[in-house]
Amino acid sequence: MSLVKNLLSQKKWTVNELEYLLTMKDSGDILNLYQKAYEVKKRYIGQRVSLRALIEFSNSCQKNCYYCGIRQENHLSRYTMKREEIVDCLLESYQQGYGSAVLQSGERQDSFFINLVGDVLCDLREATEGKMGVTLSTGEQSEEVYQMWREKGAHRYLLRMETSNRELFKKIHPENDSFTERLKSLTTLKKLNYQTGTGVMIGLPWQSAFDLANDLLFFQEQDIDMVGMGPYLAHHETPLAELGRGFIPDKQDSYYLTLKMMALLRIIMPTINIASPTALESINTEGRIEAISVGANVIMLNITPTQYRQSYQLYPKKSLTSLAPLSLRKAIQKKLDPLGEKLILGERGDALHYTEGINKKEGLR
Ligand code: SAH
Ligand code: SF4
Repeated sequence: MSLVKNLLSQKKWTVNELEYLLTMKDSGDILNLYQKAYEVKKRYIGQRVSLRALIEFSNSCQKNCYYCGIRQENHLSRYTMKREEIVDCLLESYQQGYGSAVLQSGERQDSFFINLVGDVLCDLREATEGKMGVTLSTGEQSEEVYQMWREKGAHRYLLRMETSNRELFKKIHPENDSFTERLKSLTTLKKLNYQTGTGVMIGLPWQSAFDLANDLLFFQEQDIDMVGMGPYLAHHETPLAELGRGFIPDKQDSYYLTLKMMALLRIIMPTINIASPTALESINTEGRIEAISVGANVIMLNITPTQYRQSYQLYPKKSLTSLAPLSLRKAIQKKLDPLGEKLILGERGDALHYTEGINKKEGLR
C-alpha cells in the first residue's frame, strides 16, 4: 500500500501526518484522499444531504473583526429584519421542505436583539410544532442568553473559532477580543446541550498547513458535533485586506486547501455534520457540490430577501440576488443528481455524532 493510502486508513493522526496530507501535491494521492473521504461519507451518512434555510437577519454588529465586511467601523446601511418578516421567510422555506433553519447575524448583546431572537424562536416553534430545526449563528453571548434561546427551541449553534492558533487569532482581531472567552462560549454551548459547531477560515494571512492540521485536531479534541469552515476571502474595505497583502495563498490554492480540509475532516470525524462552504461559491460556481463529493453533508441555501443582500457582505459575494426557496432547492438537487446525492426534505438533519452521543449517555443511566 502507498504511504498515503496507509495514512488514510489509520484511526489516529498526528499533526505532522495531517500536515503532510494537506500539503501533498501528487494528483493521484489527492484523488485517493477525496475518494476515501467520500467512501466514509457514504458509509456513515449515506448519499444524503441535509438542507438548511439560511437567513442573514441583521447586519448590525458591535465587533470589529479585521477580516469582516460588516464590522462596526464600516460604513454601510444597517438593517435588522422584523420578527414577522424573519418568521414569514422561514415558514415559506419550511413549507418547501426545508427541515431546518440557520439564523445568522452580526453580534449584539442588547436586550432588543436578544428578545428578537427569542421571539422568532417561539413563533417558529409554535407554527411548526417544534418540527423545524434551528441553528443560531449570532456570536458570543452570556450563558443566560444561550440558555434562554435553548429553552425557546434553538438546538444547534455555530460559533467559529476562526483559527485554533492563539497568536494568529490575535493578529486578525482587535485587542479586546479574546480567544479564551470565545472558547469558553463554545464550552458553555456544549454544556447546555446544543449541537455545537465551530470552524475556521482557510487561507488566512500567515496561516500555515501546520495551523490547519492543528485546527483539525482541535475539532476532535473539542468533540465538536458540526463544522462550518470555508476559505478566507479578502474584503477590500477591511484592515486585514491591507495587513495581509502578500501573505495569503491565491484563490485557487485556498479552494483546493478547503477541499482537502473537508476530506480530512470527514475521515477523522465520520459522523459529524460538515457544511458545504457557501464561500466556496465565490471562487467556483460548482464549489459547494464539489465539497459534497469530498465529504460535506449539509447545504445552506440563502433565503435572505434580495434587498438586504448588498448590505450583508462578510466577504465579496458573487451572487446578490435571491431565488424563491423552492427554485433554490430544485436547482441544487439538479446539480446533486449526477453524484447520486439526495436532499433530505422535512427532516431536521441532526448530526449523528450528537444523537449517538445522547443515546450513549442515556444507555449509561
Ligand atoms: N457574527 C457572528 C456570525 C456571523 S459571521 C460571528 O462572528 O460568529 C460568520 C462567519 O463569517 C465568521 O465566523 C467568519 O468565519 C466568516 N467570515 C467573516 N469574514 C470573512 C471573510 N472575509 N472571508 C471568509 N469568511 C469570513
Ligand atoms: Fe461581526 Fe461576526 Fe463580522 Fe466579527 S465576523 S465583525 S462578529 S459579523
